[in-house]
Amino acid sequence: MPTRKTSHEFEFAGFADPARTCAVLRGAGFAVMHRDRYTRQPPEAGFDYCLELDAPGRNAAHPLELKTHWIGPESWPDVERLLDALERGGATIDHRAAYHVRVEVPDYFDDPARLLSLARLVYQYEWVIYGLVHREAAYMSSVQMPGLQRISECRTREDFLNHAANTTRARGMNITGLGAAIPHIEFRWRGGTLDPAEAQAWTNLMLAMVDYAAGTMHPQRPREANTPEALDAFLSLAGGDPTGRIRKGHTIHPVSPRHRSRDIAPPKPARPSLPARIAAAGASVVKTQVLRIDRVDDESFAARLAVCAACPDAVLKDGKPHRCGPIYAAWKQEGGATCGCLLELKARDKTQACPQGKWPPPVPDEGRL
Ligand code: SF4
Repeated sequence: MPTRKTSHEFEFAGFADPARTCAVLRGAGFAVMHRDRYTRQPPEAGFDYCLELDAPGRNAAHPLELKTHWIGPESWPDVERLLDALERGGATIDHRAAYHVRVEVPDYFDDPARLLSLARLVYQYEWVIYGLVHREAAYMSSVQMPGLQRISECRTREDFLNHAANTTRARGMNITGLGAAIPHIEFRWRGGTLDPAEAQAWTNLMLAMVDYAAGTMHPQRPREANTPEALDAFLSLAGGDPTGRIRKGHTIHPVSPRHRSRDIAPPKPARPSLPARIAAAGASVVKTQVLRIDRVDDESFAARLAVCAACPDAVLKDGKPHRCGPIYAAWKQEGGATCGCLLELKARDKTQACPQGKWPPPVPDEGRL
């Protein structure tokens, strides 16, 4: 598993002049630069930190933003000293600001399924995670991570980048940085903090999520309600919450009815009509078995059938996955969860997909990523 670096944004009140604050911090031995405007750029080479005025007119109460460079765990003592120096100098936390963490994910392009795995995990626990945001900071970390269905269709680096370019950054999980020089995902769920232990605990949780999703294909599951039990289940991914810092500020605030009604169930793939499905099944057989085109390789074929073998909806024959659900029941329902197809034929076709989104993406052709 790669050792990922992170970068951080702390927003705070108590100072209004980046140049003067910068001078004080440099006097204390920190490699800090400043900008008089809001840029979303990392510190320049040679500097560990950058102080910027926050977006003008947006955050009158927390006008300064401290950005770190990409750092590893060895840099946290320095971050801790810096946050202490700020607090001693009069900086105050404003909970209307958020604490943003960016986690580098260059490896997510090597295996597109990793983003889908992370998206499913976030989808399942997003209401729980949202309960960890201070209510006043919730406006910049809105519920609904971007496009689960669309992410599940990403197969190549270009797919990722196109999708990322069409999403908004004002989400709890912001993927617009996938196309940056250092590909990263930004997590914006945490309320403002200048507490280094809280910041580090939160960062470790975000890192654990990203690493977990890279190593395990998380299944698609319904949303969890924002309950203490669901919070425990979510935190167990990161080995619990030994310092108690993550739970700090957790609320069971309700998700708005608008989100609840729109998002209560995982999105279902659209289902074509019965004649269209019959025609598509026939065309698939001709294509893959007669013309021998659009076939997945043996490795992807076996991986698909292995998923079907463990699927409770599969109809087995001689102990092997035979059909995706009983044929009549499957073909009668519009929008049902099974398709009734013969799995040995369906799994060979590169253009076919599991109706429940369970199949791993095909192994990409050489050079596609
Ligand atoms: S295609 Fe999907 S839904 Fe159908 S049996 Fe296989 S895993 Fe289950």
